[in-house]
Amino acid sequence: MVIQLKKDITEQNKNLIIKKLENSKYSCSQVKTQKDNYLVAIGKNEIDIRRIGSMNGVNDIHRVDDNYKLVSRKWKTEYSKINLGDGIKIGNDDFAIMAGPCSIENEEQIIDTVNHLKKNNIKIMRGGVFKPRSSPYSFRGLGIEGLKLFSKHCKNAGIKIITEVMQVSQIEDMIEYVDVFQVGARNSQNFNLLDELGKTNIPVMLKRGLAGTIDELLFSAEYIFSAGNEQIILCERGIRSYEKAYRNTLDVNAIPLLKEKTHLPVVVDPSHAIGIRQFVKPLALASIMAGADGIIFETHKQPEVAFSDGQQTLNYTEAEKLYDNMKKTYKFRKTLDLMP
Ligand code: PEP
Ligand code: MN
Repeated sequence: MVIQLKKDITEQNKNLIIKKLENSKYSCSQVKTQKDNYLVAIGKNEIDIRRIGSMNGVNDIHRVDDNYKLVSRKWKTEYSKINLGDGIKIGNDDFAIMAGPCSIENEEQIIDTVNHLKKNNIKIMRGGVFKPRSSPYSFRGLGIEGLKLFSKHCKNAGIKIITEVMQVSQIEDMIEYVDVFQVGARNSQNFNLLDELGKTNIPVMLKRGLAGTIDELLFSAEYIFSAGNEQIILCERGIRSYEKAYRNTLDVNAIPLLKEKTHLPVVVDPSHAIGIRQFVKPLALASIMAGADGIIFETHKQPEVAFSDGQQTLNYTEAEKLYDNMKKTYKFRKTLDLMP
């Protein structure tokens, strides 16, 4: 059950509600987010929810029979919109494009990318400064100094930043420079990290784990929400399968399914899914048709010399074609009645 409490509920009234639920063998968790006050009640007994709904201080009550609760669409049928400020939004009819290099490499590359994005009216730049690499000998990112440069140039250009945070200790240093924290596939179930990001007021894009199920992704999102942060974006980035012909298998099925199960926006990363440059475009467009609220992909002035993931990175000419195609595809999708 998800119980939305009135903002001005007294402690006494809240305790009466909790007592009543506990008497019916429900355990209660209190959740306070940027937007609302909730009680999440877990239990098996049949209870008449009207008896709780009519208590003082209750705004609304919803039966949610999914195992995850706050991220479920069973209590919130309207899709959530994540607001990054300055009119930049993701979800619920706001389609987002996020583009940029795999890794932030140097100041010149930041400036190049910012100019490219500005020219094409793209408002969100991606780029890792803390890179999770399979080999410890690969380029692992410029760290916080790189993020400061990244932030300086994006702020000047009115572009928002999405970048990966790999561990709890980085949050504090990164927070003033980041518009969206990215949780990478390898950290999708790092529950300590999710808890701590839940205590921030910065939107989080949570990637699906390398072998993560849809339920596991939603439970991870539930960690962030229940810790206090409602501003969550989910990202399908391909899952590991037996197929070796490409990097990962983009689970297009996950897109409409997630749109049915959760009110959170769903973004797709075709670059890390297929890992092959010439197929990023068709997969991006397929993902939009399947219901994606946004696409995040890798672009670089010279992919051949990129410090990481050059093989799946589009050059600017290719990226420009993709921006145009994505906008057209999104417009076309909206003329059809495809959404769950
Ligand atoms: C990335 O987006 O930079 C990245 C490392 O992706 P993933 O966590 O999906 O592998
Ligand atoms: Mn990459």
